[in-house]
Amino acid sequence: MEVDELREEARRNTRGRFEQWAKNPTCEANILSAVHNVRLDKAASAAGLAPGFGQSPFAIARGNAFEAGLFTADAAALRAALERAGVLPAGSRGLLDLRLRQNGGSRVSGVDAALFETEAWLRAIAADPWQADSIVAAPMVRIPKGVILPEALLIIDAVAVTVSAEGVRLTVGEIKVFPDRGGHTDPGQLASARAQAGVYRHALGLALDHLGLTPRVTAADDGFLVFTWPGSNAPSVRAREDLTYQARRAERGFARLEEVAQSIVRDDDFAADNPTLIARVLAAPTDYKEACLSFCDLAPRCHSRAMAADEPSVLGDDVARILGGMTIARALALMAGVAPADDREADVQRRLTQAR
Ligand code: SF4
Repeated sequence: MEVDELREEARRNTRGRFEQWAKNPTCEANILSAVHNVRLDKAASAAGLAPGFGQSPFAIARGNAFEAGLFTADAAALRAALERAGVLPAGSRGLLDLRLRQNGGSRVSGVDAALFETEAWLRAIAADPWQADSIVAAPMVRIPKGVILPEALLIIDAVAVTVSAEGVRLTVGEIKVFPDRGGHTDPGQLASARAQAGVYRHALGLALDHLGLTPRVTAADDGFLVFTWPGSNAPSVRAREDLTYQARRAERGFARLEEVAQSIVRDDDFAADNPTLIARVLAAPTDYKEACLSFCDLAPRCHSRAMAADEPSVLGDDVARILGGMTIARALALMAGVAPADDREADVQRRLTQAR
């Protein structure tokens, strides 16, 4: 494949941009970056910051090796973990591998082929559910609205297919190379995996509706997360993750992305490192959150701004939630015993006093 074609494939595959957007969906700068495909490291360089979140080639290689291992030998490792977790019944059969060749698949040559094969798969299981393969790797759906430029395509990591008298049920799965430490799993990594699975759930539901296949084929409200056992590449499946809230959040986010795309983006705007687009991202309002530190090269700038504005978000999401829009200085004053100005301040004072 030519370099230009590879770039085009990468541009059409909007998954990375969705993931970035899902980490802070309320920041306008982040939304613009995702819609325009503006790289945050380029924006950080333009703002005089040293980019720090380029993905480590070792982390990428480990992630690729983990995913590849899950789908070898009829997805034996993933299947065993899914059956143990109750996502699939014991004795499940069949793997449909829709991964692109460039992502480790053996057959699907590019985005158009992946879209065609995914649609053919969905129509086939609606027509003849009992022939359905129980695991599908990397189906690609086109989100039926123009959510993200130049078009919204999403690769779902894995789908578990179960069949009953009511029809076919598709359960989306998100694969991450994060270690699963039970109750001590990193909450940020867990939240990001759930948010991503919620995006899949919502996108798959839209695609099924668009193809007219609902209710013969439905997307389950729950999903599964595939992490690693600490220190190994063996899969650990978290089943029955309720994605209702995350899917609703994805729906609201899609609407906002579409609004942004339609209001300010012209067809000729689309170029990943265009200085005008970078300037737009840098000028957009921000909404600093704890998660910013884990993915956005602009985090030092936004953290400094939040510090200067005395915003509670610099102390983490939990503190920001308790204080709402209140400044840290006001919260400290309330803790020191000044009289609250209204009921909300009285409530915050009571909670802070209890916490102390
Ligand atoms: S660091 Fe700043 S620009 Fe980046 S997502 Fe957070 S608030 Fe938005």
